[in-house]
Amino acid sequence: MTQPFTGNPCHIYTSTRGDSKAVSFDQAVLQGFALDGGLFVPKALPSFSLDELKGMAGMAYTELAVYILSRFIDPAVIPGTDLERLILKSFSSFDHPDIIPLVPCPLRPDLRIMELFRGPTLSFKDIAMGFLVRVMDYLLAKGNRKLNLVLATTGDTGPAAAHAAAGLSTMDCWPLFPKGMITLEQEVQMTSLTASNIHPVGVENCPDGGDDLDRVVLNLFSDPDLKNKLQLSSVNSINWCRVMVQAVHYFYGYFRACKTIGAPVVFSVPSGAFGNLFAGFLARKMGLPVQEFICAVNANQTLYRAFTTGVFKNEALISTCSSAIDIVVPYNFWRFLYFASGRNAVKIRTWMDEFHATGQVIIDPETLNAIQNGFVSTSVSDQQTLATIKAVYKADPSYLLDPHGAVAVAGAKTMAHRYSAGTSIVCLATAHPAKFPDIIAKALGGKSLPQEATHASLVQAKKADQKLEVCELRDLEGHLINRMQTRNGKCNG
Ligand SMILES: *Cc1c(COP(=O)(O)O)cnc(C)c1O
Repeated sequence: MTQPFTGNPCHIYTSTRGDSKAVSFDQAVLQGFALDGGLFVPKALPSFSLDELKGMAGMAYTELAVYILSRFIDPAVIPGTDLERLILKSFSSFDHPDIIPLVPCPLRPDLRIMELFRGPTLSFKDIAMGFLVRVMDYLLAKGNRKLNLVLATTGDTGPAAAHAAAGLSTMDCWPLFPKGMITLEQEVQMTSLTASNIHPVGVENCPDGGDDLDRVVLNLFSDPDLKNKLQLSSVNSINWCRVMVQAVHYFYGYFRACKTIGAPVVFSVPSGAFGNLFAGFLARKMGLPVQEFICAVNANQTLYRAFTTGVFKNEALISTCSSAIDIVVPYNFWRFLYFASGRNAVKIRTWMDEFHATGQVIIDPETLNAIQNGFVSTSVSDQQTLATIKAVYKADPSYLLDPHGAVAVAGAKTMAHRYSAGTSIVCLATAHPAKFPDIIAKALGGKSLPQEATHASLVQAKKADQKLEVCELRDLEGHLINRMQTRNGKCNG
């Protein structure tokens, strides 16, 4: 592996807990978590002046991605031409020439919708996962290595990872999901894949759903011998590479929505694990003149409470109609607190330990002030979400929001009074409505679903032969170890 460092601090990664030694980009990507349990962050962030931003404003999405991401990666690890190739490949399967088009919101002239769901599995997870998995493949191939990607999924992450990994010779991918607890659409996106390196596992009898699976995965990973023998790795939302690539869509959205470079633009973001919003924060720290971010959540109010009261607290999960943001511990919030506290690793370590022990942290007034600078939060009820889907569809029967995009639009409507006339608000739509047909039916209340609530790729996936391994939760660990050993034996012998 490439040894650090060229000396450019934007290419050197340290842990938010401050106890791990600095690593280079490739190590940060392949390790995921820092060895001290913290999250990787670069030692310094690149910055873009207003003049430079003016020069970037006309770039296509992929051009912009190459321009911005190259600042975070030592060219000795990924040379510029290879990075460009990886980015073009990652987004080649998106179904719109703009990759992430901005469209007017039929409800109000000041709102725009940025469609982040044009990738192969129809959710915004495709943006970061497509790139991360290809970067891993590139780094593994260079080091002549192979690994087993294991991930527990309760929604959009598994399909995005499986599609990105399908057919790659450097990895086997094991998406695990609680059988019967994800939508049929999400399930077939994994089980209809024919590539021989994709092994979806439906797990029966998981009373706690994703949490049960997380425990098994954590257990597998906590045994260093096993982890090493089976070459286990994951692609969860804390991976720096996923966060970094998500910063690009804020630049792109800003340039399309602003009247002049420097004019105020607001982003409304449906938030769960806070990866997407943290990326927005990064974009602003790098010089993008975003006026404010609206952190739109559903009835799960961890983030809302933190932003409004400074109490960061773990509460019981509530099931809502925007299920991808039913999250009570937004893991990327630690990264945000790290920067907001002036890179105070000692403070973050104390808070993380306190949170793990008691389920609660009280953010001090100074840090609270810092996180409220440029961020507001609002909590959107299911009733508002459904009413927003219906109102948009009534205003324009050719436009259907998904429940998560609807949370963003509802949040923007609630907060719009804060901004002067003419301020553009960009609402992030993170999934295609066809992934949530039951919610759409509920929102529209009609007998038959409109054509906008279907997607050809899902129709096809449902018709295809399905490949699925089913096992009981109590057998899962043994099943995985067995299957990986057989696979590894086959590949190596
Ligand atoms: C993952 C996801 C989100 C939440 O993004 P975070 O980065 O976890 O805040 C929102 N909408 C959809 C559809 C998702 O799949």
